[in-house]
Amino acid sequence: MWKHVALLGVVAHLGDKRAAILVEAHRDRTHDEWLRRDEFDMEAFPDLERFESGLGRVCREARKLTIVDADRLVRIGTGDHGEKSEQCDGGTHESEFEFQIRIWQKFRMRTSPQYSRRRFLITSGAALCSTSLFAAESEPVFDIHQHTKYLARTDEDLLAHQRTMGVSRTLLLPAGTPVSRDSTHLGKSNGLAAGCGGNETVVAIAKAHPTEYYFGANEVTDLENAEGEIERYLKMGAKIIGEQKFGVPCDSPESERLYHLAEQYNVPVILHFQHERYNLGIERFDKVLAKFPKVNFIGHAQTFWANVDANPANQTVLYPKGPITPGGLTDRLLRDFPNMYGDLSAGSGLNALTRDEEHTRAFFERHQDKLMFGSDCADAVGVGTECTGAGILEAVRRLAPSKAIERKLLWENACRLFRV
Ligand SMILES: [Zn+2]
Ligand SMILES: [Zn+2]
Repeated sequence: MWKHVALLGVVAHLGDKRAAILVEAHRDRTHDEWLRRDEFDMEAFPDLERFESGLGRVCREARKLTIVDADRLVRIGTGDHGEKSEQCDGGTHESEFEFQIRIWQKFRMRTSPQYSRRRFLITSGAALCSTSLFAAESEPVFDIHQHTKYLARTDEDLLAHQRTMGVSRTLLLPAGTPVSRDSTHLGKSNGLAAGCGGNETVVAIAKAHPTEYYFGANEVTDLENAEGEIERYLKMGAKIIGEQKFGVPCDSPESERLYHLAEQYNVPVILHFQHERYNLGIERFDKVLAKFPKVNFIGHAQTFWANVDANPANQTVLYPKGPITPGGLTDRLLRDFPNMYGDLSAGSGLNALTRDEEHTRAFFERHQDKLMFGSDCADAVGVGTECTGAGILEAVRRLAPSKAIERKLLWENACRLFRV
């Protein structure tokens, strides 16, 4: 009956000398199954190995199949992590995430009649063997918001993070030149206030992975040569200007120079709105949208998402909680201006999606052509509660009113906007 199997992940169980695995079936943890090593069908290991060797021929679009090395699991389980093991025995497995980057990969496989009889599949039953899970894994995701060198993350970890999240296209947003002036808060906001890499670093990754990574062009808004620097990278094929995250009014003459440049090169601009910190004056942004009707603007960050609520808390509350009254400033900008888009990334995006889920379903419906998935997280794991991007993906998949809308948010809107 079920043609496909999708395992979302396997995680080492640290709390057991006889190593076990967690088979993660759904991102909300329903149908997760812990299987002790001695409960796991021993024959499955050689089968998996055989399967991998035939993977390229059997299922061409399949991701890499990860084989959990039993010896390594045992080593982890009996290694230096005795304290964590206790925690795991108590039923939580948060502490295992640090190991996931080494042993966790998404994979999927086509079942054979022989394979589907394996006990570990049967144990998890329908959850594992659903075609919809297979579909979720095989459907592409576009991440419009990531950074290089993010809180010192290595390029290798960035690439692995994106793969683990199941992202096939990533837009890398560079920082501006490190300088000490008011707009960088005397240097505190250099590197997008998170150690992020500049223009050269994003170009390097995009060149090395041309079908998976795209790059933006950026500079400190009020540096004299901001236009020249950004234009140099637009000529090289930058897909966007930003992330603009500097202490200037969003309608400053210096910002407007860059909006003109965006119009000239037909690329969007992404703005980090944060009260009294970056791109000040969101309440006047409607004038910018009206003045630059040919420029697509993407709103991002705390003040953009807090103002989804018609009764926002005090603007100093950057992550407001609780029910949302529809019709806030952000809601209206998205409704009234065809050139206003929303980036769902970061803790601010995730907070806006999860604080009032009923609101989110309707919000997705209203702005289904305007919202785009972004992760903007600095972790190396790409999965679980430590990864904001994984949380946002989960929320979009769970709350999108239809499959068609989910696909727009995770893929189609970004492909259209960036013309790829
Ligand atoms: Zn940001
Ligand atoms: Zn992440």
